[in-house]
Amino acid sequence: MKKIQNYINGQFLSALSKNYKNNSSPITGKIYSKFPDSDHEDIDKAVMAAKKAFPKWKSLGKKGRYNLLMSLADMLDENFDKFVEAESYDNGKPEWIARSVDIPRVSENFRFFATASLHFSSECHEMDGKAFNYTIREPIGVAGCISPWNLPIYLLTWKIAPALAAGNTVVAKPSEITPMTAYLFSKIVHKSNIPNGVINIVHGLGEKAGEALTKHPDVPVISFTGGSNTGKKININCASLFKKLSLELGGKNPSIIFNDANFNEALNISLKSAFSNQGQICLCGSRIFVQSKIYDKFKTAFVEKTKKLTVGNPKNKVDLGAIVSKAHMNKIINYIQLAQDEGGTILTGGNRIRFEGDLREGYFIEPTVIENLDYKCIVNQEEIFGPVVTIMPFENEDDVIKMANATKYGLSASIFTSNVSKAHRMSSKINSGIIWINSWMMRDLRIPFGGMKDSGIGREGGFNSLRFFTETKNICVKI
Ligand code: NAD
Repeated sequence: MKKIQNYINGQFLSALSKNYKNNSSPITGKIYSKFPDSDHEDIDKAVMAAKKAFPKWKSLGKKGRYNLLMSLADMLDENFDKFVEAESYDNGKPEWIARSVDIPRVSENFRFFATASLHFSSECHEMDGKAFNYTIREPIGVAGCISPWNLPIYLLTWKIAPALAAGNTVVAKPSEITPMTAYLFSKIVHKSNIPNGVINIVHGLGEKAGEALTKHPDVPVISFTGGSNTGKKININCASLFKKLSLELGGKNPSIIFNDANFNEALNISLKSAFSNQGQICLCGSRIFVQSKIYDKFKTAFVEKTKKLTVGNPKNKVDLGAIVSKAHMNKIINYIQLAQDEGGTILTGGNRIRFEGDLREGYFIEPTVIENLDYKCIVNQEEIFGPVVTIMPFENEDDVIKMANATKYGLSASIFTSNVSKAHRMSSKINSGIIWINSWMMRDLRIPFGGMKDSGIGREGGFNSLRFFTETKNICVKI
C-alpha cells in the first residue's frame, strides 16, 4: 500500500514515531494509502529546517524567488493530469471539477503571487522638508500554513505561494482527510531548484501535528483555513505567543432572490452555488431566500433542476461526486434528520445513495432541498457543508436582511436583482466579507478575501496576502 511521507529539509521521511494512519477514498470507501501520524517532534524538525533555510531564501530577493516559483509553476503544470486524478480519488469530487477549478489554481497561485511580489511597493510619508518616512515590509521567518480538505491543494498553495513570494519559508500541514495531492506537490518541489528546507510538508492529525505547529515558538505567522471551532482553538494558542494570524473559517451563506431578478440567471447560479463540489465550498449558498411573489415558481423550478442533477462516479461527467468521508456523510445525514425534527419538509433528496459494484461503499448523498424551516432553527444556523439547502420566502428588504444576518457567520452572500440601487443598499446592510451581485464565485485573486464574525479574521488575496506574510517597518530619515 502506498505510503505518503513527510517532506522535511528536502528529504522524504516517515514520522519519527514510525506511526501511520489510513487514508481512504470516499468513492469506494476503501483504504488505499497511509500517511504519517506526525507529532510535535516532526513539526519541530520541519521548523528547524525552515528556520535554517530562511536567511538564504530571503537573500535571494524578489527576482530570485520569482524565477524559482515560476519554474515550479511550470513543473506543476507538466503533472496536471496526475493531480486531477489524485485529487478526485482522494476527495471524491468529480474529475471535471478538479480539472477546471482545483488544479489550474495550483500553478496559478504561484504565478500570481510570484508576479505580485515584483509589484509590491512601499510607501513614503514626507514631513514638509524636515524628514521623510519610508515603510518597508520584510519577510517574517517560518510561516505555518494549515489547510482543509474541500479544496485540498488549491487552498494549500493559496497559502504557501504568497508566504514564499514574500520571502518566508514554510511548514505546511495539509488536511489528514485529503493528504495525497500535498504529497505529489512535495515530490515536484523535490525535483525543482527550490533550496532544501524552504518548503516542508508535515502530514498528520490536526489536534497533534496541526496544534504543534500553531504552538511552536519559532513559527511567528500562521495562516489557517478550516472550521470556525478549530479557528477558535488556534486563535487561543496563537494569542499568548503574539503570532500573526489569518483565519479563513466557515460560512452559512445566503442567496437572496428578488422578484425583479433575472429568473433563469438567479435559478442557475443559485443552483450552482448550492451544490458545487457537493456543497463543500465555504462560499456555497446554503440558505436561499426568495421574494414571495416568485417564491412558488422559483421553488418548483429549483426542485425540478435539483432532481435532474446527476450523482455518481467522479470519473464521469456527473454533477456531484462523493462526500469526503464517512464521518462527514453521517454528519450531513444527521442534519437532514434534524431538519425534519425541526418541522422541515424535504422537497427532494434526503438520502444516501448506494451504487452497485466498486462504488457500493462510497459516500454519496442526493442533493437535498428543504422547505418550511424557521430562519432561526439549528439547520439554518449551523454550517452543514454538504449538498443540502433550505429555501424560504421573504416579503421585503428589511425582512430578508434580518434573516440573512441572523447567523454567527459572515463569509459571503449573493444578491439577485435587476435594480442597481437595491443591490447597493442590500450590499451595505448584509454582514459578509464578500458580496456577489447577480453572480457567485467570480474570483479575482487580487480582492480582499475573508469573512466577518465567526467566518474569520483578516483578509487574504493579492497584496493583502503579501502584507500578511510580511512585517512592517517604518524608517524615519531627518533631512
Ligand atoms: P477543520 O477545521 O476540521 O480542519 C482544517 C485543518 O485544520 C486540517 O488540516 C486539520 O488537520 C487542522 N486542525 C484541526 N484541528 C486543529 C488544531 N487544534 N490545531 C491546528 N490545526 C488543526 O476543517 P475541515 O473540516 O478540514 O474543513 C471544512 C471547514 O473549512 C468548513 O467549515 C469550511 O467552511 C471551512 N473553509 C473555509 C474557507 C474560507 O476561505 N473561509 C475555505 C475552505 C473551507
